[in-house]
Amino acid sequence: MATDYDAPRKTEDDSESIEALKERVPDKMSGSVDVEDSDNPSGFELPGADLSDLELDVVVLPPQEDEFTCMNCFLVKHRSQIDHEDGPGFICVECAA
Ligand SMILES: [Zn+2]
Repeated sequence: MATDYDAPRKTEDDSESIEALKERVPDKMSGSVDVEDSDNPSGFELPGADLSDLELDVVVLPPQEDEFTCMNCFLVKHRSQIDHEDGPGFICVECAA
């Protein structure tokens, strides 16, 4: 009698857990794959291109003819902001003040 009651319960439990697993596994896998797929390409391409562009802009940017780089604060300013010449460069009005 005991085995009779146990047998149906086991099969019921098994089928239930299997169904639950079948429902959960595809959900988890599709979710994780989606996140990784959308994350990796954009994560690698966008910041890389953006950073190289920004670095080139900053490094290449030369002072224009009417601009100078202050020897004290290293900011590029308009020549009207020159307070005085200091050796190879200039000191801006703000730093000389
Ligand atoms: Zn300065």
